[in-house]
Amino acid sequence: MSRALVLNATFEPLGAVASRRALLLVLERKAELLEATGRRFHAMAVSYPEPSVVRLSRYVHVPYQARIALNRRSIFARDGYKCQYCGAAAENIDHVVPRSRGGEHVWENVVAACKRCNSRKEDHLPHEVGLRLAKMPTRPMGRAWILLAEAGVRSEWLPYLGQPITEQLAITMSTTADFDSLAG
Ligand SMILES: [Zn+2]
Repeated sequence: MSRALVLNATFEPLGAVASRRALLLVLERKAELLEATGRRFHAMAVSYPEPSVVRLSRYVHVPYQARIALNRRSIFARDGYKCQYCGAAAENIDHVVPRSRGGEHVWENVVAACKRCNSRKEDHLPHEVGLRLAKMPTRPMGRAWILLAEAGVRSEWLPYLGQPITEQLAITMSTTADFDSLAG
């Protein structure tokens, strides 16, 4: 199922919903259609463009910054789908301080890694086996990251997601041909 990006009345990204639900928001005049996917929903004699980006008619107050789920997809996205030791395509999640040595499963201690670096590291600290991190892992911030981690991102969304995330995605999208299918 396709997903649509929902923007607040202020154009701030809020999240992603099923495109069918986004269409209902548009039909109920709760949102305006900004971008369509090119596909159409057919209902009886009429058809509607499938929404890709909609903007709410009324401002919705967002009281808190939701925490971003720590999972394989979100870690790979943060790290640009590249091994943080050698730059090869990421295949595994690596605990910088191994769990066997007290390392925690937290944003600051997990990185994307290729199979080779991951198995070379095993129960060692990076410097013990001659590996060095490209950068220190940190907790990603911002709603655009939530979208990225949970829904995947369609190309039509990029202009609405802000500059830093757009630059990041330009890299990741070119290296992940089936990124769109992750939205599933
Ligand atoms: Zn590697």
